[in-house]
Amino acid sequence: MNKRIAVLPGDGIGPEIVAGAVRILQTIETLYGHQFELTYADIGGCATDKTGTPLPNETITICKNSDAILLGAVGGPKWDSLPVEKRPEQGLLKIRKALNLFANLRPTTCYESLADSSPLKKDIIEGVDLIVVRELTGGIYFGTPSERREIGGKPGAVDTLQYKNEEIERVIEKAFEVAKTRSKKITSVDKANVLETSRVWREIANQVAEKYPDVLLEHMLVDNAAMQLIRNPKQFDVIVTENMFGDILSDEASVLTGSLGMLASSSLSEEGPYLYEPIHGSAPDIAGENIANPLATILSTSMMLRLSFQLDKEATVIEEAVNNVLNKGYRTRDILSPNCKIVSTNEMVEAVNKEIF
Ligand code: ATP
Ligand code: MG
Repeated sequence: MNKRIAVLPGDGIGPEIVAGAVRILQTIETLYGHQFELTYADIGGCATDKTGTPLPNETITICKNSDAILLGAVGGPKWDSLPVEKRPEQGLLKIRKALNLFANLRPTTCYESLADSSPLKKDIIEGVDLIVVRELTGGIYFGTPSERREIGGKPGAVDTLQYKNEEIERVIEKAFEVAKTRSKKITSVDKANVLETSRVWREIANQVAEKYPDVLLEHMLVDNAAMQLIRNPKQFDVIVTENMFGDILSDEASVLTGSLGMLASSSLSEEGPYLYEPIHGSAPDIAGENIANPLATILSTSMMLRLSFQLDKEATVIEEAVNNVLNKGYRTRDILSPNCKIVSTNEMVEAVNKEIF
């Protein structure tokens, strides 16, 4: 398979962890006879330093001409005092907009060997393997009107929750596509007992479900879902929900696994290319020290292989390699547990690499 990948290392630990993930991609390429053509581009603070803007047009063009995008992280104290339009985070917001990345996928896998680092009981989180699909470009965060500090002449505040049917449909479709590649169960989360947008959400979910007879759809109210995520997270496979509910539930779900350094994500659009990145930030406090956990970024490449290239076998090989190194006791400092071996970023990458052969 021949694919073009845009590689955007960004700032802080970005370049280190992306280098690790690229090493793993290159091993997969060699072992399985693929060709991944990598094109590097700037985003974030490093782009502002070089070009005066955190998202140069050249980067957008490179991304649009790619089959998938791998991003490290952006930001750092160095750029905090710049005018807003030059700040690194703007690069990220703009690329999401430029590529219309409306569905954010955040898988939460509980690794048995890391169960100690979760505040929840081991028997509750062991075996958890779920994914939250969050609508990313609509909902109450984009409400109107923009001046909302008055209600009928009296001081107050207004936020408007609105969704076009097509915005609901496209994200639910994506979630069904994801469910097809997994255990084929979707939980659509809403507040249909009180919200009109939720009632429409539910209707559309039922309509989309008709196209996917082999995927089981269930509906759950968001308050119940928040409780069930902690009481019995193993019941979930794919959770699909609107922007704000997804924001809250995906943070809640991330606690099930323990560390920030383990969690991958992808952002999907209608046409592609999709963007893959770890959920953590640029960790400026540990940048350049070769101690960052590269596993979230490595797992992001595994998502890329599965979702953008349909290379299920290769994706599974990476996931199993990560699981094996954890079982063998390799730990970067952020996931340290008793009787385990502290390794550097590079050593962790090499350990995963060795498992793949
Ligand atoms: P952002 O606003 O970009 O999300 P943040 O303020 O949430 O950033 P992070 O950069 O994610 O912060 O870092 C939070 C803490 O977690 C820091 O102490 C950082 O060193 C640590 N951290 C983040 N990612 C990793 C990683 N991959 N390996 C080890 N530690 C990490
Ligand atoms: Mg953060």
